Amino acid sequence: MDIADLATRITSGDRRALARAITLVESGRADHRERAQALLAALLSNGRQALRIGLSGTPGVGKSTFIESFGMMLIGKGLKVAVLAVDPSSARSGGSILGDKTRMERLSRDPKAFIRPSPSQSTLGGVARRTREAVSLCEAAGFDVVLIETVGVGQSETMVAEMTDLFVLLMAPGGGDELQGVKRGIMEMADLILVNKADGDLEPAARRTCADYAGALHLLRRRPQDPEGFPKAMCVSALSEAGLETAWDEMQALADWRREHGFFDARRADQARFWFGEEVRRGLLARLDHDPALRQRMETLGTAVAAGEATVAGAVAEILAEIGARGG
Ligand code: GDP
Repeated sequence: MDIADLATRITSGDRRALARAITLVESGRADHRERAQALLAALLSNGRQALRIGLSGTPGVGKSTFIESFGMMLIGKGLKVAVLAVDPSSARSGGSILGDKTRMERLSRDPKAFIRPSPSQSTLGGVARRTREAVSLCEAAGFDVVLIETVGVGQSETMVAEMTDLFVLLMAPGGGDELQGVKRGIMEMADLILVNKADGDLEPAARRTCADYAGALHLLRRRPQDPEGFPKAMCVSALSEAGLETAWDEMQALADWRREHGFFDARRADQARFWFGEEVRRGLLARLDHDPALRQRMETLGTAVAAGEATVAGAVAEILAEIGARGG
């Protein structure tokens, strides 16, 4: 299909066109890459903006249950919801979270929702680029909220935080041990910690856990991009849907405050700059790996360095000069 047609169909909210476009950005083929770039450029002027929310939590904490309930609640408010996933383990296995759509049965059937599993790529960087581009496509397609789900393992969180406006951490009720187990870095990324499963027998434990997190968050240095009281810990139940309205109110309040104070746009600008740098670095590394002449030169210079016939510094300078001279 013509790229201009595809862009028009995406803008008009055609979900099949969106799915097709995401497949295009996920492709590694050079000609697909070119078309993907043209498509993204064509949609750049569309100017639509979704609220991008990162959602992280260890397996079993209730992410899919939460996304289903929360997503359906948003749809009930007249909003369109897209769900994307970043799963570093699927990058290795080729499988993917969200692959099994029965995990979000109602949401996956709703015409106002769009659910897309994690792309299977060999590197986290590859997944990052595809997901980031998929977010732009969903935004251009007119989704109001884009949720990006990831499993709590560290590196993928950092990446998701670099492409979202808000970062939500879902936690399970548990004792103090649980608190120790949360990586400080991930806590520091969170705008909202939601202690899930605050229902039935688990409710007292959830309340205690929530108080523990609230205490821990209180000890963190206040970030300039936060109004008073954030980051915040709250109890929710994805199952009974208790607290979901309040959680959404808090997310909106935070996003609105950041918009009013310039932090919202500033963060997106910083993120664009960050990904630009990342992509340049990745592109250079890819060239080292794939350009046969460069690889040959690396091999030869590597041998010379190993034999003590050339210095490391000199050999590096030579390679860098070669990359510079050879241009694209
Ligand atoms: P994920 O691995 O993080 O996506 O977690 P799931 O959404 O698959 O949920 C894992 C288990 O926790 C399932 O058995 C859910 O039914 C259960 N669960 C999820 N949310 C809640 C909740 O709010 N309350 C209770 N009691 N159980 C929940």
